[in-house]
Amino acid sequence: MSTAPASLIVCHECDLLNEVPPLAVGEKAFCRRCSYMLAANRPQAMTIVFTFSLTALVLLVLASSFPFLGFSAHGQEQTVTLIQSIAVLMTQDHPTLALIVFALIIAVPAILLLGLIYVSLAIRTQRRLPAVRRVLRWMLHLVPWSMAEIFLIGILVSFIKIVALADVSLGLSFWSYALFTVCLLVAVQHLDKRELWRALGALPRG
Ligand SMILES: [Zn+2]
Repeated sequence: MSTAPASLIVCHECDLLNEVPPLAVGEKAFCRRCSYMLAANRPQAMTIVFTFSLTALVLLVLASSFPFLGFSAHGQEQTVTLIQSIAVLMTQDHPTLALIVFALIIAVPAILLLGLIYVSLAIRTQRRLPAVRRVLRWMLHLVPWSMAEIFLIGILVSFIKIVALADVSLGLSFWSYALFTVCLLVAVQHLDKRELWRALGALPRG
């Protein structure tokens, strides 16, 4: 195996040109200067991306369908869904903000997951699905715009503040959204750009 040629990889973070030898299964290569992960040999990565993207998408649908938070104070009870919590911004004259929040925490993650499922399905089934290379390019651009985990942290911070004012209960949708965030992060963590482009390039024609 040591006779195979090393490949040159430019570090995404610091632009240093690194010489990376062929990796054994389970091995990873890091940048010499900034320790950014350059490549990894994870044969199961595509299966993980597919499984976790699909699970995340189902959880996102669940998260949009049930009560997200429940409040009770002074004998009054109220529950809000995820969509309602965004719609509140509309009624408070912040339509642009509502649109941005909706895009970053629901729409972009949903499009990203659909794209990842599409690309990983093409690789797993070895079929050159229509526009699959374009889909991958768009998905790689979208990754930084998916901010589900930031939203979740925001919710937890405000949760701590609201608890002092009212009895707050976490609904089924909250837990679905939390699990969705974890699955999305796992899927994104297993994206290996170099490996994805190589796998798409190796798909049979026709
Ligand atoms: Zn680097």
